[in-house]
Formats: sequence, structure tokens, C-alpha cells
Amino acid sequence: MAKIETIRHSLSHIMAQIVQELFPGVKFGIGPAIENGFYYDFDLSQSLTPGDLPKIEDKMRQIIKQNLSFKKRGVSKKEAQKIFQNQPYKLELIKEMSGEKITVYESGNFLDLCQGPHVKSTKEIPIKGFKITKIAGAYWRGDEKNPMLTRIYGVAFNTEEELKKFLEREAEAEKRDHRVLGKKLELFLIDEEFGSGLPLWLPKGAILRKIIMDFALNAYLERGYKLVATPHIANLQLWKRSGHWDFYRESMYSPIKVEKEFYMIKPMNCPGHVKIYNSKIRSYRDLPLRFTEMGTVYRYERSGTLHGLTRVRGFTQDDAHLFCAPEQLHSELLSMIDLTLYILKSFGFKEFKVSLSVRDPKKKTNYLGSNKIWNLAEKALEEALKAKKLSYKRYLGEAVFYGPKIDFLVKDTIGREWQLTTIQVDFNFPEKFNLNFINKKGQKKRPIMIHRALLGSLERFIGVLIEHYGGAFPLWLSPIQLVVIPVGSRHRKYAKEIGKVLKEENLRTEVWTEAETVSKKIREAEVQKIPYMLVVGDKEIKTKSVRIRKRDKGDVGIIKLTKFIEKVKKEIKEKK
Ligand SMILES: [Zn+2]
Ligand SMILES: [Zn+2]
Repeated sequence: MAKIETIRHSLSHIMAQIVQELFPGVKFGIGPAIENGFYYDFDLSQSLTPGDLPKIEDKMRQIIKQNLSFKKRGVSKKEAQKIFQNQPYKLELIKEMSGEKITVYESGNFLDLCQGPHVKSTKEIPIKGFKITKIAGAYWRGDEKNPMLTRIYGVAFNTEEELKKFLEREAEAEKRDHRVLGKKLELFLIDEEFGSGLPLWLPKGAILRKIIMDFALNAYLERGYKLVATPHIANLQLWKRSGHWDFYRESMYSPIKVEKEFYMIKPMNCPGHVKIYNSKIRSYRDLPLRFTEMGTVYRYERSGTLHGLTRVRGFTQDDAHLFCAPEQLHSELLSMIDLTLYILKSFGFKEFKVSLSVRDPKKKTNYLGSNKIWNLAEKALEEALKAKKLSYKRYLGEAVFYGPKIDFLVKDTIGREWQLTTIQVDFNFPEKFNLNFINKKGQKKRPIMIHRALLGSLERFIGVLIEHYGGAFPLWLSPIQLVVIPVGSRHRKYAKEIGKVLKEENLRTEVWTEAETVSKKIREAEVQKIPYMLVVGDKEIKTKSVRIRKRDKGDVGIIKLTKFIEKVKKEIKEKK
């Protein structure tokens, strides 16, 4: 059987053949295989609707049944230009091709400029293994200056079973889409007039954000981190010295003129923390020093790549920079891995993947820092992972130019992987900013610097969290934990009294006394995914109790108010 990538790519040709038949005069872009499927880009004079997709899919099946063969032909550049004389995008590609020999593939009456490989015959394609899924706009060659083409996507697998599984998972992922849930649960807003990629936090989202920040920050402070704070803009000269102006300018926004000088919006928090380190002479007794900040940074991302909370232009990192003596690196890494696992597990992630990115030893000149220090750092990272019995993958040549790093990926409820945590050793900053400490013998020594963000960015983290839980957050994270619902108007007073008691116990509580029916309020609480509903009527007033409805479980019976408070406090503490 042909490779799945070959099948996927061959399907893109067949799809193009149908589109050519249905839309004469169509101009073709490209049609590669991608993860799980394929696409093809078309420049169409009429618009295509999702309703057209089943028709395209049916016609593709008819073609596949014909056992059509893919014929390869080598042509000269001139011939190719003649064949594709009415295809401007193909001509553009031909123009850029070096060498004389160009290959074209013919299947049925469709001829495409392509290097292959393809299936020999369409009979190699599992006829029930594919589906045409969606239409999207895509700029020619991904450049917003170029025309917008119509991209049709398909997915394809070796068997119908595999396809079915994939589509089920996709449907589940769609239900969990944080952009949809973010709106429905009133967590955040992306307002195009305000600016693309710049999420605005609504009251419930901002509370969630605060709970997460407080939890992380407290964990850091308990472990000897010191809280610092740095401004959002800093002098351009600083960014020149740090190397960002030379190596990171494409991700930074244009300079702002302030009197006679230029300032940059910060893409990272590091230079500020380095300046704080350098604000006084440091002794070996001061080390390790750990500065932390919930630092908001801004980085340029192309508009086409922005995505809800997971790809934004402004975000807040749970950032920290550690400065230690070389011999402290190992123990610092050990406690940092412990802390990472504690934090991620607290948020309900159970499976992790760890990657260790090291230098390509054949290309040593691509990296900053001495051999000795690289070996020390790579060894320290690797030994720390081994000591913690974490399985990891080693990626040669994936280190940043200034140092090796460890990344943690988490697996969510439906098996998708998200990169969150990054721990990077840095040899660049200590050199560029001449960082020192005085050792026991009174000599000046270079500290090792570590950048680390455990949640990564709060925006992305919350996006992942929404999808992980499908918006049904555990009690400790729920923006509204409890809602009190009086059965009738004569129970409102008791509902309010209870609400007051619960709020005094620091439970995020709302009391819904509006003149709506109980069932309507219950439905609303379910839509908002509030963990507990407390329904109160005559019986509950008499016994100083509440009737509990639990999210997804329904009515779980009557309980004394004091007992209930005890129970939820335990649940919050255990982060269940
Ligand atoms: Zn091809
Ligand atoms: Zn940093």
C-alpha cells in the first residue's frame, strides 16, 4: 500500500480535477499533503459554499472507482510555461525553478506541475478513508500582499475506522474550542476595533486569571523567589546591548520616540531582571537569586497566525530569572522540575512529555558561550531529568543560540499536546551585561542565568485550560463556584442570608433572586457550568440546610449549610 502522505497528496490532485470540472477557468495554487490530510488552493471566479463540499467528495469517489492512473512526464521549462500559460500561479512557480527538467503529472484530464510522488492508480486510495472537511481563505504563499485564494481541506486515512476516530476527536475538540467557550462563558473578548491578538478579560475571565496568578506566584514566593516589577517599555540602547535589536527585531514593535531617545515595548522581561541583579555587588552568599514577575510582554505575530488566546500579540508570562553559581545549577534544576510538576499537576494535567534541546556539536560556532560551560549546562539538565526519572527526548541542534533548554508538553483530556513550560539556560546575558558575583575566595565570577516560565503565558495557559476542561473548571478555579436559587419569592430572604454567609467564607457565590422559574435558573447555571447550585425552599429554611444540585450530576440531596461549607472547602483545598 502506498504511504499515507502519498495517498493524501494524490487526493489533492483528484480534488483539483473535480474543481476544474465544476469551475471552468479556475486558477490553481498548490495542493500539498498535510498532517491528517491535504488541501488545495484555488482562485475561483465564483464563490464556493460548504454545501458544495459533499458534491466534490462524491465526484472524487466516482473518479477513484475508475482506477485512474497518475502519469509522470518530464518537460522542459519552456514546455511547462506553455502547458500552464493560463495558470499565473503555476507560472510563478515555474519561473523560480532552477534546472531544466520539470515534472508534470497527469491524472484523467487534470495536469499538474508537481514533483510527486503519487499513487500509481487511484485504486490504491481507500475510498472510504477520506472526507472533504472545510473551506478557508488563504493568501497565495501565505503573504497578505498576495491575492486571497480559496483553500479546500480534506482529511484522509488508511481505513474508514481511523477516519471515524479522527472526526470524532475533531468534533470533541470543536466543542471544547476556547474561542467559542470563552464567549459563551463570558471569560474574554477579542475586539477587532481594540486590536487583533489583544484579548480583553471580562470579569469572570479576569477572576480566573487572578486565581491562577495568585496560585503560581504564592508557590514561587514560598520557594524563595523574590517578587520584582518592571515597566512595559525600555530604552532602545538596552535592547541593542541585550542582542534583541539584532536577533529578535522581527518580533518587536517599532520604536517609540520619547524626547530625543527611542524606546521599545518589551518582548521579554529579562533585561529588567538583569538590571536588578546588577543594582548591587552580589556575593556567593546571595546566590541563588530568583526574581519573578507576572510580566506582560508584546511580540509581533502575523495576523494570519493569531488564534484566540493561544496565539496573541500581548501576553503575561509567569516569568522568572535565576542567577546561580555553576555548582548550584544541578540543585536549582531539580527543584525547578519539582515545582513545574507540582504546578501542572495542580491544574489537572497528568501526562507530560519532556524535551531536552542541546547544541549541535558539529556547529559549535553557531552558539554563544564556551565549550566548558555548554557541557556543564547540558549535563546538568540531563542529569536533573534523569534524577527525577522523567523520560525525555533529546533534540540535537534545537538549543537556542545562548543555551540549552527543557520544555514540558502537557496532554489534555482528549489527547492533544500543548507546550507550556520552558526552562532555558542562558550564557548570553551574563556576558553582555557583565554579571558577576564574588566567590568565597573574593574573586569575581560569572553566575549562570536561567529563564523559566512554568505556565508559559497566562493567555495561552487559560486557553489550554478551557479546552482541557471543556469550560467545566474544577471548583477551585471556577469563576462562580456557587449559585443560590430560591424556590419562590418568600425564600429570597433566606437565599440572601445564605449568600452572605458563603461570601464571608470566601466562596465565590451569586444569589439569583430574579423573578424567573427555578428550572430556568438551573438551566442557566448549567450553561455557565457553575459547579454547585443551592436550591432553597420551605423545607431548607426550616432545617437550616440547602438542596444541592451538582454540575453534570443533578440533584444530590439536602445537606446542612455548615456541613456543605466544610465539604466545598475541602474540595477547593484538594483542587479536585
Ligand atoms: Zn502532486
Ligand atoms: Zn528571560
